[in-house]
Amino acid sequence: MQNNLSQSIQYLKSVGPKRAESFSKIGINTVKDLLFYFPSRYLDRSTILSSIKVVQHVVDGYEGEVTIIGQVVDSEIHYYNKKQVMNVHLKDASGFFECIWFQGAKYFKNIFNNGDYFAISAKPVLTKYGHLQFVHPDFDRLAEKESKDFLNTGKIIPFYHMKKELRETNIGDLSLRRIIHQAVHEYSSSLPESLPEFILSENGLLGISNTIEQMHFPQDYDSLNTAKYRMKFEELFFFECIVAKRKQFLVERKKEFSFKIKPEPIKKFINMLPFNLTGAQLNVLGEIKKDLTGSKPMNRLLQGDVGSGKTIVALISMMIVAENNYQSVLMAPTEILADQHFKNITQLLKGFGIVVVELLGGQKKSERDIILQNIKNGTAKIIVGTHALLEENVEFNKLGLIVIDEQQRFGVMQRSTLVQKGMNPDVLIMTATPIPRTLTMSIYGDLDVSVIDQMPNKRKTIKTYLRGEKKLPDIYNFIIKKAAEGYQTFLVYPIVEESAKVELKAAEKYFESLKEGSLKELRLCLIHGRMNWRDKEKIMYDYAAKKYDVLVSTTVIEVGIDVPDANIIVINDAFNFGLSQLHQLRGRVGRSEKQAYCLLVTPDSLAVKSNQLNYNFDYLSPAQIEKHKTIIRLNAMIKHSSGFELSEIDLKLRGPGNIYGTKQSGLPEFKYANLVEDSKILFTTKEAAFKIIGEDPNLIQPKNILIKNTLREKYYEKYFLSRIG
Ligand code: ADP
Ligand code: MG
Repeated sequence: MQNNLSQSIQYLKSVGPKRAESFSKIGINTVKDLLFYFPSRYLDRSTILSSIKVVQHVVDGYEGEVTIIGQVVDSEIHYYNKKQVMNVHLKDASGFFECIWFQGAKYFKNIFNNGDYFAISAKPVLTKYGHLQFVHPDFDRLAEKESKDFLNTGKIIPFYHMKKELRETNIGDLSLRRIIHQAVHEYSSSLPESLPEFILSENGLLGISNTIEQMHFPQDYDSLNTAKYRMKFEELFFFECIVAKRKQFLVERKKEFSFKIKPEPIKKFINMLPFNLTGAQLNVLGEIKKDLTGSKPMNRLLQGDVGSGKTIVALISMMIVAENNYQSVLMAPTEILADQHFKNITQLLKGFGIVVVELLGGQKKSERDIILQNIKNGTAKIIVGTHALLEENVEFNKLGLIVIDEQQRFGVMQRSTLVQKGMNPDVLIMTATPIPRTLTMSIYGDLDVSVIDQMPNKRKTIKTYLRGEKKLPDIYNFIIKKAAEGYQTFLVYPIVEESAKVELKAAEKYFESLKEGSLKELRLCLIHGRMNWRDKEKIMYDYAAKKYDVLVSTTVIEVGIDVPDANIIVINDAFNFGLSQLHQLRGRVGRSEKQAYCLLVTPDSLAVKSNQLNYNFDYLSPAQIEKHKTIIRLNAMIKHSSGFELSEIDLKLRGPGNIYGTKQSGLPEFKYANLVEDSKILFTTKEAAFKIIGEDPNLIQPKNILIKNTLREKYYEKYFLSRIG
């Protein structure tokens, strides 16, 4: 029987216009939408305990959560200290137990009707009278038949995320399961396959109809996992198809002009630097030179830890382009950083006859007009700026190279906007947020990747310590003592999210009190997020020029800023920061040959605990990792100095679903797959996709038509428009 999948869910029993409307609010309009509304979790018989077993567990000292199924015997609201308390008594085959809520009594009263079956999950306790009790447990209502089937045949029961829009039209767990059951039963066999037969068979994947059935009402756990595998595979496969197609597209592009290398000015420049380039920098330069002189546009991702010296590599590349009479842009995510690049580059290029300009938001119109003119007529050869560069009225004369610094801070479209301003220009994307290499190769499969995996010589590893707040007086003394040796210090306070006002207060408050108090003999300055960038810039430069000893700030200094004599960074409330952010912050120091220090400050108890415990990941369960992740993060900072190592840990810590937060990293977000746990599937799909696109770039062979269609209908827009640096 062929059923029309795109018909409204109103065709299902017990879905009327009201309910259809509430489904619509959560994005479910058609039967097909409903088929892809998967359970958020499942109840599995193997995890259910009888009440007598649970009591035994508690007596034995077991402290974890348990799940237990019972039938409501009675429920009552009583008063305790003038507050309403809700008590529900339930029974199972081996005894009685109770659930208790100290809040929302009325709400729960309506839910627990006598005779109904519930699955209850929580940490069990025994009352002083020896009753088994669950306080504020999670619960799921089961149909009577369901609970019998469940207990007798071991069926797995699906639970769907119950959005409040659904609850408002009285859709509960039971009715939702019933509605979906009907949809699956009547419609899943009509679902068109989205993957070609040869992909299914080569990879042992379930067909789509089967997959949908097993996702909702799995026969057993193996079937459920097979179904999940298929969903992940499909998602990653089409993602990799797009990466492969992009690569194909990039490879086919032809450059307007292949650059020639004039060795003299470059040699002169390199000799003039106060340091020797590291081997890694030279290698990467070699790779870039090959691209610049080649006939295909460069599409290169340059990964290098904070302080590894990416800027100089970019600058030399831009010089090569300038010597060929082409323009380069260097785009940075913040005005301060752009401005610092501009000043540095101007300084370094003195005497080379290359005109460098800077384009930022908030410049005076008269000033800006002249700059725009110089960009348009080709006088300006290196153009440094922020996203102000993307504006429409910025026209280039001959744009040959685009460099994007700290790419993880930019959205996707921005790169394309710039690329369109030139004729197939070379593109170099730089990032300090390292991700494990294997992932890089799959996610950025359309880019060539270069890595600066070596820190400049003579640089000492930053000494990192964790200290309790009690130690702050000692820390201040240390700062004062070191200031006498010419050290400068960053004092960082966290931004309290969603409340810029609080942020302002925090940094300002400490600034005032330190200035008058513990650090009064030093020269302090303050930067916070709400200052305009010119004021920030002025302070940064005065600080870099050593007019101040201590810079008090929020995290505005996080990205890129370079002050060689700042060799101490104190990060207050360090537990508040993510690992990559801590690492970025630490990278602000240790940029000279002097020993640098990073002091992480937390409440005393946390510091003591962290310094005592030293977790080894390999022996921790996911639950333990979750529980101790603050300590793990802090310890990782002390133990590791490499961003790559920290990124591996970060990846494990953040776990399913929220690796990095896409905004921070520029990584794609998947609905079913998880980049950490499913990296194997990612590699498999990459191989498969690249092979297919390699043989049939436009997907015109009959066997590949389905791939082409699915891509177009389902995936193209999603991935292409929404991501890929
Ligand atoms: P990042 O890779 O984080 O952008 P930068 O390019 O800002 O790092 O470089 C950090 C600092 O190291 C700068 O002061 C830069 O001049 C310096 N530097 C770069 N390369 C070397 C090198 N080979 N030896 C010593 N110092 C270097
Ligand atoms: Mg940088």
